Amino acid sequence: MEQRLVELQQEALEGIKKATDLKELNDIRVSYLGKKGPITEVLKGMGKLSAEERPKMGALANEVRDVIAKAIEEKQAVMEEEEVTKKLASETIDVTLPGRPVKTGNHHPLTRIIEEIEDLFIGMGYTIAEGPEVESDYYNFEALNLPKGHPARDMQDSFYITEEILLRTHTSPMQARTMEKKEGKGPIKIICPGKVYRRDNDDATHSHQFMQIEGLVVGENIQMSDLKGTLDVFAKKIFGEDREIRLRPSFFPFTEPSVEMDISCKICNGKGCSVCKGTGWIEILGAGMVHPNVLEMAGYDSKKYTGFAFGMGPERIAMLKYGVDDIRHYYTNDVRFLKQFSIHE
Ligand SMILES: [Zn+2]
Repeated sequence: MEQRLVELQQEALEGIKKATDLKELNDIRVSYLGKKGPITEVLKGMGKLSAEERPKMGALANEVRDVIAKAIEEKQAVMEEEEVTKKLASETIDVTLPGRPVKTGNHHPLTRIIEEIEDLFIGMGYTIAEGPEVESDYYNFEALNLPKGHPARDMQDSFYITEEILLRTHTSPMQARTMEKKEGKGPIKIICPGKVYRRDNDDATHSHQFMQIEGLVVGENIQMSDLKGTLDVFAKKIFGEDREIRLRPSFFPFTEPSVEMDISCKICNGKGCSVCKGTGWIEILGAGMVHPNVLEMAGYDSKKYTGFAFGMGPERIAMLKYGVDDIRHYYTNDVRFLKQFSIHE
């Protein structure tokens, strides 16, 4: 019996030594130390022993159990530690590896130029007014001194939705809407940026949908010189301090007198080149003194109040400023084009 116990101990220790994972180790624990294990089995034969040998054998069996249990415990501790080490090794992060670049977007060039113009005018005390793109004939035309049948309506081929509703052809309806809201009282200083629509065949310089920024100042004693001074600041801030401006007489139904503003050509410095068509000047925007009819229709006393208005196309301004040669680039969403206007340039 003693021999058998020693053999069992050796077998168990051998098994523990060979065990490669925790499950195997647990199997050994169950089979050797469990109630149905071989040690218990051996002890069942104790009845045949003499009274002298019995306690000796009992003590030996306990010793064998203890030795096996201790060996399992030790092996288990080693295995668990190995497991942790292995896990740590597999989860190691090499912080010195170069990172993958994150693709960042950037503002659309039109958004950028509009924000630049907005900031400039906000700095001069203007507020921003925005309004509906689907507009009534009244605000788009009639309130701007363009009654039904007025020949100048043909200058703006329109997308009509019904007889009385259309896609606005300019941002000028916001002039009428803002003045109406003020009920003929007090000064106004606004700019209105937004999309406008005209029935045009798209080509390098025309688009059926484009942006406009309109400005309106109404107050007592507002004069043409205020308009000229404002446009001069605008031209110098957007196109460079060395730009000159000139005003040429023009016609718009909602302003009287009306002017076109040119800036001196930056490319040839006024000498004449292909961009300015040899004139040395580039047309930028239309402007004028608000027509008394427009003031009166919105409830302003045109004897007390005067005002000026101007309207420009951000596409054209961005084309000149960034050297873009085709208006369609703004609307075809070619990432290669748009990427050039990243703030990281
Ligand atoms: Zn030129």
